Amino acid sequence: MKIAILSRNKKLYSTRRLKEAGEARGHQVDVIDTLHCYMDITSNHPAVRLKGQELPAYDAIIPRIGASISFYGAAVVRQFEMTGSYSINESVAISRSRDKLRSMQLLSRKGIGLPRTGFANRPDNIKDLIKNVGGAPCVVKLLEGTQGIGVVLAETTKTAEAIVEAFMGLQANILIQEFIKEAGGADIRCFVVGDKVVAAMKRQGAEGEFRSNLHRGGTAVLVKLSKEERATAVAAANIMGLNMCGVDILRSSRGPVVMEVNSSPGLEGIETATKKDVADLVFQFIEKNAKPYRTRTQGK
Ligand code: ADP
Ligand code: GLU
Repeated sequence: MKIAILSRNKKLYSTRRLKEAGEARGHQVDVIDTLHCYMDITSNHPAVRLKGQELPAYDAIIPRIGASISFYGAAVVRQFEMTGSYSINESVAISRSRDKLRSMQLLSRKGIGLPRTGFANRPDNIKDLIKNVGGAPCVVKLLEGTQGIGVVLAETTKTAEAIVEAFMGLQANILIQEFIKEAGGADIRCFVVGDKVVAAMKRQGAEGEFRSNLHRGGTAVLVKLSKEERATAVAAANIMGLNMCGVDILRSSRGPVVMEVNSSPGLEGIETATKKDVADLVFQFIEKNAKPYRTRTQGK
C-alpha cells in the first residue's frame, strides 16, 4: 500500500518508527510535513498539493497532528479524506479530541468514569464551582496546557480560589477537578489500536510530585490492566471515534477514571516500557481496514 505519515518532523521517534514498521511490512511510506501541504478547496477535484505538485493518491494516512497545529492539521486530514484516502484517525475525531470540554461531555454522556470536573467562564461563583467537585484538595488545569504544565494541585479552598481567580484574570480557559489522591501520583497510559489496548504503561511521578508526566521527571513501567480498565480505555477510544489513541486513566477508589484521550499518542515511552512493536500493530490495523472512502465522516 501507499501510505503517508503526516508529521512536522521526520526525525521524531514516533514518525521514524512508523515509517520503519510500514516499510518492513512492504508498504511505501512517505513522511509529509502537514504545514507544507496546501490545497484549492474550491476545486471540484479534491487534491492535496506539496512543492508545486499534486500528491499521488494514498491508500491510507497516519495523521500525527500536534496540538499547536490542530486547526490547519485537521483541514489537511479532511482534504486527504476527500481524495478517498483512509485516515486511521479521521479529522472530525481529531478535532473532537482536541476540545477537552467537548471530549469530557461526550464521555460523561456515555457513562465513562471521569474525575468530577467543573468549568466556567466567569469568576462569579468560584466557591460553588470548587464545592461541586468536592472541595479542596482539588486540581486546577489550564485547558491549553500540555506535559503537565498548567496543572496545579490546590491544597485548600482558599488556594483553589486564588488560582482560579488568577487564571481567569489572564483570560485562560480552565477546568477544576476532583483530586484523585489514591492514584498516588501515577496514571496509566493505554495505547489503543482499533478495539484493543495493544500496550499499557504506568507512569509514576517523581517523589513528591502528583503529576506523572515523563516530562516532569516521571518514570514508566509495565502494568497489568484489569478487565474494567481495558474496557474503559476501549470504550473511551470508541466514543471519541479514534482508531489509534492514548487513553490516560487514573486508578480511583471507584474504579478507572479517564483523564484524557490523545489522538497523537507517542510511541517512544510505550514501546520502551513494554518492548512491544506498537508501530507494527498500527500497520496491521491499516491493512485490515483501509478502503477508499471508508472514513466515516470525511470531515462532514
Ligand atoms: P497534561 O495533559 O498537561 O499532561 P493532565 O491533565 O494529563 O495534563 O495532568 C498531568 C498529570 O497530573 C496526570 O498525568 C496525572 O498524573 C496528574 N493529574 C491530573 N489530574 C489529576 C487529578 N484530577 N487527580 C490526580 N492526579 C491528577
Ligand atoms: N509526552 C507525554 C509525557 O510527558 C506522554 C508521552 C507519551 O505519550 O508516550 O508524559
